[in-house]
Amino acid sequence: MRLNDFSRYPLTFGPSPVHPLNRLSDHLGGARVWAKREDCSSGLAFGGNKTRKLEYIVPDALASGADTLVSIGGFQSNHTRQVAAVAAHLGLKCRLVQERWVEWDDPGNATVGNILLSRIMGADVRLDPAGFDIGIRSSWEEAMREVEEAGGTPYGIPAGASEHPLGGLGFAGWAVEVAEQERALGVFFDTVVVCTVTGSTHAGMIAGFAALHESAAGRPRRVLGIDASATIERTRDQVTRIARHTAALIDVGRDLRDDEITVLEGWAGDRYGVPVESTVEAIRLSGRLEGMIIDPVYEGKSMAGLVDLVTSGEIPRDSTVLYAHLGGQPALNAYAGVFA
Ligand SMILES: *Cc1c(COP(=O)(O)O)cnc(C)c1O
Repeated sequence: MRLNDFSRYPLTFGPSPVHPLNRLSDHLGGARVWAKREDCSSGLAFGGNKTRKLEYIVPDALASGADTLVSIGGFQSNHTRQVAAVAAHLGLKCRLVQERWVEWDDPGNATVGNILLSRIMGADVRLDPAGFDIGIRSSWEEAMREVEEAGGTPYGIPAGASEHPLGGLGFAGWAVEVAEQERALGVFFDTVVVCTVTGSTHAGMIAGFAALHESAAGRPRRVLGIDASATIERTRDQVTRIARHTAALIDVGRDLRDDEITVLEGWAGDRYGVPVESTVEAIRLSGRLEGMIIDPVYEGKSMAGLVDLVTSGEIPRDSTVLYAHLGGQPALNAYAGVFA
């Protein structure tokens, strides 16, 4: 099948906006940097990258006859907040397992930001003391069972929607969208910078660009994943596996090359969810120069990577870079102390 053959349930306003970051580019003094904004392309509880993934998962959920979406993430998970919003929008119930992925003692960690929004949208939010893990969890399987025992019909969506068989399709579509926007704008983004943790955002992009068969036309494009998990080998494995799976789903018609799968480390700090100095600097820089707000768990880390790669010339001066802004700002509320 081609990507267009898969059902897609629209949850976004349309293509996410693309715009130049001129003051940031001038400040860095190297490549020109643009942003593509998943954080302002949906009216569902501030949107974000999981909303785009869910567009390809919702048709399967509806076809299954489910009445409850079940998902899992950290206390300040953007993903579970987006699942709660989609459930509300569709008139489904929502059961969320929120694990203690981050040892973070801000008093608002389990009450403000994302988890607050999920509660407002009517999700059944349950806290769980388990730590960070991007794999399939027993607490999630248990939540599925409990919904069934209560007479409901659950539909499970794994952490970040990444281990879902259709999880990579949303960002394969993002790649197609980028190519269309490039034609309209008369630019070519030779480098894409994207934050990666559970993997299907980055993996979907890799498969989507491969499906466009661009390299045959001679224009090289690099998709640089910036790890924010601090478990680099697991992330690399997961991105590779999901990219290959998604490429097969949409009939790319060839094996992905190893050099198409690049996950860079160096900006995650020691732990998922804990910002380091470069994260905070990147957040301040984007805010001060562009009025563009990014978060301390994901985008602050990928922006720190972009800043270093552009200033060091690792991304050459004549490059045009597309920074994938994947959303996540509500979590900032649980990190207020960092900026006080
Ligand atoms: C989930 C998330 C990511 C990481 O995406 P994955 O598909 O899990 O790798 C990056 N940024 C934000 C804001 C997110 O919510």
